[in-house]
Amino acid sequence: MSSTILHLDADAFFASVEQAADRRLRGRPVAVGGLHRGIVASASYEARRYGVRTPMPIAQARRLCPPLIVVPVRFELYEQFSEFIFGMAGEVSPVVEKQGVDEGYLDLTGTRACLRRSPEEVAEKLRRDVKDRLKITISQGLARTKLLCQIASKLHKPDGLTIIPPDPDRELAFLHPLPVHWLPGVGPVGARLLESAGIVRIGQVAGLPLPWLTELLGGAAREVRDLARNIDPRPVTAARPETLSYGHQETFEEDTADIAFVEAVLGRLVDRAMLRVREDGRQIRTVTVRIRYSDMEERQGQTGLCEPTDVETEVYPAARALLKRLWDRRVRLRMVQVCLSKVYRGFGQLDLFGVRQRRRELATTCAAIRARFGPRALMRMHDWRLMQAG
Ligand SMILES: [Mg+2]
Repeated sequence: MSSTILHLDADAFFASVEQAADRRLRGRPVAVGGLHRGIVASASYEARRYGVRTPMPIAQARRLCPPLIVVPVRFELYEQFSEFIFGMAGEVSPVVEKQGVDEGYLDLTGTRACLRRSPEEVAEKLRRDVKDRLKITISQGLARTKLLCQIASKLHKPDGLTIIPPDPDRELAFLHPLPVHWLPGVGPVGARLLESAGIVRIGQVAGLPLPWLTELLGGAAREVRDLARNIDPRPVTAARPETLSYGHQETFEEDTADIAFVEAVLGRLVDRAMLRVREDGRQIRTVTVRIRYSDMEERQGQTGLCEPTDVETEVYPAARALLKRLWDRRVRLRMVQVCLSKVYRGFGQLDLFGVRQRRRELATTCAAIRARFGPRALMRMHDWRLMQAG
């Protein structure tokens, strides 16, 4: 039996949550503003009718839409709604994979046997329940694979359910005419490269020889071509929402009292974790640091950043401050760990002056140079310290 996977994606999530939380905002054009960047982080559908988009400077949005109500971002509130949504999802499927604060996959393969309902009925009911109880809408895609249902969920927003029947011809008829940027692993840069080579549709990618595609996309080429050929064996993996995180730890060869050294190790752990965050096209908002003393006592603390990020330089200060706060005994350390969580997607572009874009490009370039020429080709201060120490 083939699998049935549902992808759900909340509509205009931040703005919808604000409207749900304050009935005076319902039915009115609302924009949620990024904290200090003056950028629209999310716009209600009423505001979108005026042409308000994400990301757009608030000043421009106000010009387009004079009655616009701008409210500040409240990440804790969105994270709470996220937990409600995924709690309800967990009631209809034991296999729920959260991808970010407002989207995720549900494996509905077993619903017919377990709930005596078709996947379509289960999806409809979930959508209705979310709307009734939380006063926000989600859109859904239902299909045989992750790729198909994820794309389908974005096609009929808001409050839509798009079903791709599990028939190979119909799946290809859906997939192949779509633009290449829908393929995971392609990204904006890859899409531009492919387009400049005249490859604009997914169907064209399916027919490319692997060496060509590798020239353009590097190591991701094979998986991308498989996806373009509608080969997608990725299962939905039940991860509890709180395990959606990026963690790295290091146990020292010898217990240490050298704070500069530990800070340097912490910096390197942040680098590794953020590399993965960027590769996944995500952003994180919470930084957790854990230390273990030589007598095995452990301390742990966490901080929320003022907004989600995918750039390591925005994480270092929080991680270092946590380390200083936690390490309050005059005892040597054995281990340090960093964990980045509260994962977001699509929050990378909220950047009025392109500051973060430049930081991200710098980080990406550094990672590429290291991958090519070795870790010592380019070092941050903490790498250099570690080299001196090692
Ligand atoms: Mg969404």
